[in-house]
Amino acid sequence: MASLKLSHIYKVYENGHKAVNDFNIDIEDKEFIVFVGPSGCGKSTTLRMIAGLEDITAGDLFIGDTLVNDMEPKDRDIAMVFQSYALYPHMTVFENMAFGLRNRHLPEAEIKQKVLEAAKMLDIEDYLDRKPKAMSGGQRQRVALGRALVRDPKVFLLDEPLSNLDAKLRAQMRTEITKLHKKLQTTFIYVTHDQVEAMTMGTRIVVMKLGYVQQIDTPMNLYNKPYNKFVAGFIGTPQMNFFDVTLNRKGSKVEVNFIDGSKIDLPYDLLSKIHDNYLHGDKKVIFGLRPEHFEVSKKATGLTATITAVEHLGNECIIYGDLGKNDEEFTMADTGRAVIVKTVEGEPFNVGDTINLAVMPEKVHLFDGETEVTLMQDIPDFSRFEGEIKGGQLSIFGSKEKLPPYLAEKLPQQGKVDVEIPPSAIVAGNDYSLKVHEIENIGDKKLAYLEYGDRFLFAFVGKGVKVGDKYSFSLLKDKLQFNNGEEVLLEPVGEDIAFDGKFTKEERKENHERVLHFFYNINGVAFEAPVAHGYKMNAVEGNACYKNTYRYVLNRNDLSLEENGLAGVVKKVVDYGNKTYALVDFNGQEVLINNDDQLEEGMEIKVGLNAEKVGVYSIDIDMKIC
Ligand code: ADP
Repeated sequence: MASLKLSHIYKVYENGHKAVNDFNIDIEDKEFIVFVGPSGCGKSTTLRMIAGLEDITAGDLFIGDTLVNDMEPKDRDIAMVFQSYALYPHMTVFENMAFGLRNRHLPEAEIKQKVLEAAKMLDIEDYLDRKPKAMSGGQRQRVALGRALVRDPKVFLLDEPLSNLDAKLRAQMRTEITKLHKKLQTTFIYVTHDQVEAMTMGTRIVVMKLGYVQQIDTPMNLYNKPYNKFVAGFIGTPQMNFFDVTLNRKGSKVEVNFIDGSKIDLPYDLLSKIHDNYLHGDKKVIFGLRPEHFEVSKKATGLTATITAVEHLGNECIIYGDLGKNDEEFTMADTGRAVIVKTVEGEPFNVGDTINLAVMPEKVHLFDGETEVTLMQDIPDFSRFEGEIKGGQLSIFGSKEKLPPYLAEKLPQQGKVDVEIPPSAIVAGNDYSLKVHEIENIGDKKLAYLEYGDRFLFAFVGKGVKVGDKYSFSLLKDKLQFNNGEEVLLEPVGEDIAFDGKFTKEERKENHERVLHFFYNINGVAFEAPVAHGYKMNAVEGNACYKNTYRYVLNRNDLSLEENGLAGVVKKVVDYGNKTYALVDFNGQEVLINNDDQLEEGMEIKVGLNAEKVGVYSIDIDMKIC
């Protein structure tokens, strides 16, 4: 039994191929985690790094509380089951299962007991004297599982264990492995390219693509709330339908315009979290709907399809078609109009027929046409509203407030501005007041829909706030973004700051011993780095770590004035009203630091950084090294 933690794990193979990028997950004890994704996406590489069969290029791997990056596979207390079974052909099933235990010099009686127990659990007691070649694929896979089981490991790692089996046996073994997991109450990590396997077995699933994690979630959340088009398309059979559309809001309705000219309406209520700029008909949006979320309707629905093929499966029927009337030659090519509909058997559907398709509105998915990321996140990253600047004041939400000095300086003297307001920028206060239309519980947070005009401003509120209340609030100006159309006028202040610098080492004699010290060297000022970081830099970069330039990233709060620190000159004081910062020039590197110390323009200062909190990034290959 054990938890696992993968923190910023990367794998770069010797040929320079970056197979795994910034993999992060906390796996709880007893979870059944599935890594799924198309071939080559980095699933096996990640599993093999956990097993210790592959070096970790960068990042930390913990099993329980122990950092195991450099621990031998045999000491990690894990067991791995492969697709290829990897049984010894000359040994009996019993011997195969006992082999690992014999190596550990367990008493014979205990070995026998463990093997018999596992064999019973896997229903292979009658085959203990057989050799693997006299067994079926399914039986051999059970022996492979048994060999892992007898070791009583903390973690089971399974790499496509069922892909050599036929469909029926695979389905059966799926349920057996799930049962085994329940019985053993141990952490399982299971790799597969088969989304059905992933969905039926995993308590949580990690969907990967080209070395990057796309989403980590429960099967139901992956199905209902896919983060992007890739996940949406990967999970579910037949695949989700995707169409290029534009959206146009008309009061309480949003018109969806398909490329074949068809239009349907969706209620605005379902789409109120989508940014307003997607609702003016001029931005490409991807409309996604699963085949099971269309209904074939007798009445006109605004959406028609011409049937190109029909599959009858007995209880259900899969209809393949093209959106619109059949006015073109039949083509198998992806025209952007192809549609798949899953419906119950009943009516006779024939190739060439035109059918009306009704959409289940609450099942619709919408993705950005460029980034392919969902437009329907549970918590909108920001709400966008128009404000107006006049006479040094900002008018927004029907109230006015004086612009703090930095905003007055950076923004136009007058005119309209678009303000992007993340929920975290809204705090209880006295500047504005809006009615609470709805409150949604998301995890341990309360997301309030504050009504303004015909749209909502999304804010986190405390327990006491109720629907129908007037909520009074202020805006944290340093967290807002101001735009003029597409042009960014002022960006929000981010959490992190970065310095570019070198990595250096020094050997010192201490108590007659040579001791190595490592440093982050920025503009010639050396900050002592944790020794562990020194070893990591060496392990990842070799001797090149003393030549390359690195990016040192830290939270603004982990920087403070210090006598022997890095020298800089305050270029200006940046006053956001709620908070002031100092823009400091550190020999050409400009950084915005906190200004709790009342710095003034022109002051020469020195800052120290909390070296324990520094993240080191390789600039060449975009990788967090430590
Ligand atoms: P998956 O298990 O998802 O199919 P892998 O983890 O096996 O993918 O591989 C991820 C990527 O790394 C692939 O592009 C593969 O070609 C590459 N790769 C795997 N092993 C090596 C290796 N030893 N050297 C170089 N590239 C490798």
